[in-house]
Amino acid sequence: MKKNKKRELLSIIVPCFNEEEVIEETYKRLLNVLKNLNIDFEIIFINDGSSDNTLNILTSIALKDNKVKIISFSRNFGHQPAVSAGIHYCKGDYAVIIDADLQDPPEIIPDMLRVAKEENANVVYGVRKKRKGETFFKRFTAWAFYKIINFLSDVPLPENTGDFRLIDRKVIDAFNQLPEKNKYIRGLISWIGFKQIPYYYIREPRFAGETKYPLSKMIKFATTALLYFTRKPLKLATTMGFLSIIVGIILTFYVFLSLFFKPEQTVSGWASTIIIIIFFGGVQLLTIGVMGEYIGSIFDEIKNRPMYIIEKTFNL
Ligand code: UDP
Ligand code: MG
Repeated sequence: MKKNKKRELLSIIVPCFNEEEVIEETYKRLLNVLKNLNIDFEIIFINDGSSDNTLNILTSIALKDNKVKIISFSRNFGHQPAVSAGIHYCKGDYAVIIDADLQDPPEIIPDMLRVAKEENANVVYGVRKKRKGETFFKRFTAWAFYKIINFLSDVPLPENTGDFRLIDRKVIDAFNQLPEKNKYIRGLISWIGFKQIPYYYIREPRFAGETKYPLSKMIKFATTALLYFTRKPLKLATTMGFLSIIVGIILTFYVFLSLFFKPEQTVSGWASTIIIIIFFGGVQLLTIGVMGEYIGSIFDEIKNRPMYIIEKTFNL
């Protein structure tokens, strides 16, 4: 009797934004690793509206190698939409999300796959033991971000992780069902559940080029994570509101008592009045701001625009 078991497929998802300096090398390193694996594979490059030569380089690779697929966006939509597109279009039984800049070494993919199979895990997420070649500012803001979000969020969001991870078909299908447009991918995958295990590795410096994550993109990313994974800032606003009411009541008593018992003092107290106005003004603005951020996200979701527009695809 002939056994007709279908060979498994591994999809590699690589978001690229202006990566002309690294993309060829990334392809070579990935190919080197994948061709020795006892599994079929596809490499999906998502060109996130690059304005350099990235798409040309990718196209010439895809012309020679039909395992290489390209999804090219109509403009720069961002890293998270690019990865989401990869997860949406991949056909693998497993998928690996990896940055194009070789900070995450492709050489550990086989071991991640082995661990996933041996431990029967649905997600093997990379945890950075060490981060080489990243500025103090980047490391500090990342550290502070994870401390804050883990304090606030109900979903555990492991520290020192990026999107570099292996996920299986169950997780891919679950992810593709999630309707939100603003996606904080590592948080959503954690939220999905199943068996998730960490994989420790050393994060290398960028192979070439500069970071494509300037402060503005980092802030947007962190805001999405906070808004979509916790409602605690709203609760904090309510708590502050209550506290100010209590302080207000105490102050009212104080004012009335002084009116009756120390009428000569009632004109003084200018300083305390100003301080109270400034303080409560601040609390109110902050509260309105927090509410505004949430309303803004509701607005974004309700518009129901697609996460990205695809201009063309190759080999897909
Ligand atoms: N990237 C993207 N769209 C963007 C910004 C980044 O597809 O708008 C890709 C980028 O090409 C890289 C990955 O996302 O493959 C991570 O970006 P980068 O390495 O610049 O971020 P960092 O490692 O500095 O946080
Ligand atoms: Mg990088």
